[in-house]
Amino acid sequence: MKDEMSSTSSSPSTGRSVARRAKAAARRVRELASIGHALASTSHPYMAHIVPMRRCNLSCTYCNEFDEVSDPVPLPEMLRRIDHLARLGTSVVTISGGEPLLHPELDAIIARIRHHGRMAGMITNGYLLMPDRIQRLNRAGLDHMQISIDNVQPDEVSKKSLKVLDKKLQMLAAHADFHVNINSVVGGGIKYPQDALTIAHRALELGFTSTIGIIHDGDGQLKPLRDEERRIYYEVKGLTKKHYSRFNHFQEAIVNGEPNDWRCRAGARYLYICENGLVHYCSQQRGWPGIPLSEYRTEDVEREFLTQKTCAPNCTISCVHQVSYIDHWRAPQTSQISPGMPSSLPQTQDLINIQL
Ligand code: SF4
Ligand code: SF4
Repeated sequence: MKDEMSSTSSSPSTGRSVARRAKAAARRVRELASIGHALASTSHPYMAHIVPMRRCNLSCTYCNEFDEVSDPVPLPEMLRRIDHLARLGTSVVTISGGEPLLHPELDAIIARIRHHGRMAGMITNGYLLMPDRIQRLNRAGLDHMQISIDNVQPDEVSKKSLKVLDKKLQMLAAHADFHVNINSVVGGGIKYPQDALTIAHRALELGFTSTIGIIHDGDGQLKPLRDEERRIYYEVKGLTKKHYSRFNHFQEAIVNGEPNDWRCRAGARYLYICENGLVHYCSQQRGWPGIPLSEYRTEDVEREFLTQKTCAPNCTISCVHQVSYIDHWRAPQTSQISPGMPSSLPQTQDLINIQL
C-alpha cells in the first residue's frame, strides 16, 4: 500500500515501492475511465456486488448476510455470472459474502473480472489473510479490498476486532499491491463508539484509506446516533476527509436523524447478485426485483433506473448512495416501488418475488 501511505511508511524495497505506485496510477486511470463511461450513458450498471458463497467463519450478531452451512457456488457458474455482468456493461464487480476468502476458487473469479477489463473488489473480514494469500490476490489482479472493523476488543456482538486483525493489517501493508480501505462503524450494538477513532488512526498509520459507516438495522434502515456516537463520527470524518469518504454526504442526515432526499438507482447502476444468481436491489432488499441474472437485460436496468424506491429516505446502504451520486443531477424517477411491502404495491405484480 505504499502508493497511499504517509511519508513515515516504509516498504520492503524501492523497486517494490515504484511498482506499487505504477499499479496505483494505472488503477486510478481505469477508475476515471469507468466514471466517464457512467456519465456518458445511464443504460449500464456501475457496480455489482456478487456473493460466491453465503457461508462465513464469523457470526456478527447484527448481520443478516451469512449462514454457517452453504457450499461455494461452483466456479463455472460464477464465471457465467461474471461474463453476464460484463455483457451488461458493469464497471466494478465487488465480491462479497458471507466470507469470500472461503471460496476455494476466488482467485479465478477475480481474474475473470479483470479479464473483462473491469475493476475487481472484495469485502472480507480479513481473518484468512496470510502473506501468500495476499500475493495470490495480487497475481489475480484484485484492485480494491475493504475490511470492516467493528471494535478494538472482540465481544459478543462482533469479533471483527482491531486486536485480532492488526497482524493481518500489517501483512497487507507489507504485501498488498491493491488498494485497502478500512471501514470502522458506529451505531447498532457497537459498545464503545471511541473504538472507531482508534481503528481509523491505525488504518491511516498503516497507509490505508479509512471510512466510517453507520450500522443499519436488519432492514437496512436508519438507527439514530447517540450524542457520543455523533461526536466520534465527526472526529473520524475529520481524519479521513481527504479520502473517498467525502462521497458519504448522505450520512450527515442520518447522523442527525433526518431522512435523505436522493434517487436510489439500485437495480440499475447497482446490482446485488446473491448466491442463487438472482438480481436484488441490495443486501437489505433481497427478493426485489428477484430476476435471474442470466435473464437480466438492459431494459431491466433502464426500468429500475427510473423507479423510485420508497425505502430510500432512511436507507444507510453507503455503496448504493455512492453509486447513485453519479446520476443525482439527472433523470427524475417516474415510477415507484416499495420493496418489502408488496401488498401496497400493484406495480410489483409483474416482478418475480422470492422469499430468502
Ligand atoms: S464477518 Fe461479515 S459476513 Fe460474516 S457475519 Fe460478520 S458482518 Fe456478516
Ligand atoms: S433505498 Fe435502495 S439501497 Fe436503500 S434499502 Fe432501498 S433498495 Fe436498498
